[in-house]
Amino acid sequence: MKKRWNGVRRLLGLAVVLALVLPFVGPAAVMPAEAVTQAEIDALKSDANDLASQKKELQAQLNEVKADKNEALKQKQLLEEQIEVIRAEITNINAQIAKYEQLIEEKTKELAQSEAEEKEQYELFCSRVRAMEEAGDTSYWAILFGSSDFSELLDNYMMIEEVLEYDNSVMEALAAIREQVAQEKAELEEAKAAQEEAKAKRQAAKAELETQEAEVDKVIAEITSQENQLKAMEAELNRAAAALDSQIKDLERQMSAQINNVPSESGFLWPLAANINVLSSLYGSRPDPFTGRPDNHTGIDIPASRGTPIYASKSGVVITSVYGTGSSWSYGNYVVVSHSDGTSTLYAHMSSRAVSKGQTVKQGDVVGYVGTTGNSTGNHLHFEIRVNGSRVDPLNYFKDLNLYYRSGGQKVKLNL
Ligand SMILES: [Zn+2]
Repeated sequence: MKKRWNGVRRLLGLAVVLALVLPFVGPAAVMPAEAVTQAEIDALKSDANDLASQKKELQAQLNEVKADKNEALKQKQLLEEQIEVIRAEITNINAQIAKYEQLIEEKTKELAQSEAEEKEQYELFCSRVRAMEEAGDTSYWAILFGSSDFSELLDNYMMIEEVLEYDNSVMEALAAIREQVAQEKAELEEAKAAQEEAKAKRQAAKAELETQEAEVDKVIAEITSQENQLKAMEAELNRAAAALDSQIKDLERQMSAQINNVPSESGFLWPLAANINVLSSLYGSRPDPFTGRPDNHTGIDIPASRGTPIYASKSGVVITSVYGTGSSWSYGNYVVVSHSDGTSTLYAHMSSRAVSKGQTVKQGDVVGYVGTTGNSTGNHLHFEIRVNGSRVDPLNYFKDLNLYYRSGGQKVKLNL
């Protein structure tokens, strides 16, 4: 039963994790008065994810604890059933003992009666003998010799013998009955003693089971307290997650207010000088003009010499300006500008960035310079457009431009 109670250690481990996460929330919800950045929001979202995974872990532990509790309850039920069986047995034995007691009482009365009868008979006999003795030999002899003839004498003699013999046999019979009753009473007492012994054994077994039940009760109480602790932690985690969520929502609201403050133009500006118009890679779903295969690419690549200025395609707020690192892919130096119409533009592999996060930019402002940082093999701008967070083919927005595609030595005009 004890092997299961490593739960306490489990609980402590979790409390430590919880203590590490909780400081992120609470009073830290003081928000900067001015620019909110996407990076801040992302950091909070990552905290929220941490909380969610901790909640999952906590729930797994709660389930384990609940399973333990169910097992203990089952054990308790089993013990109670066993106790109930023994209780019924004891009741049955008690009934038998009561029956024996009744029979013994009857036998005791019977015995007393036969003892009284025997005593009475004995006294009768004694008084008869005494009467004879008092009468003396003369009387005895008188009876014998007072007989008128030998036949009467014989009769008288026989009579005396018979009386004595009769008395004797009556007394013997009575003694036999008394012995019989005493024997029966002893047997009943023996049987009763056997029942009492059986009862004592049952009571001992019951006491043992009750001790076990008390132990199980203790275990159940312990588990219940663990369960309550875990539930309290869960509630705390939920509160923390809710606080974090509302903080994130506040920041997002602030962010969108910020972005909405910058009116966006209806169209997109080509992010490089107009004469830099030859692409080396197309957007994912658009087939390569030479191979016919889709490029499977998140944006378009426009080769240009290092240091070529990159322009904000539309007015908005810089929500990201970092050197991006990723395990399988990297944008290098990149900038994301969010626009009030729900779109955003991304500029990657820059040699350097010209704006910082939270900064407001106007269409045509320089956001950085062409380079080949991150996962890139030559100087080019990797450009993406998102509509409500989903990537779209940027070329959809530049249909009035003359754009070209080059692969190896071949160059074609793109049919937009
Ligand atoms: Zn690219």
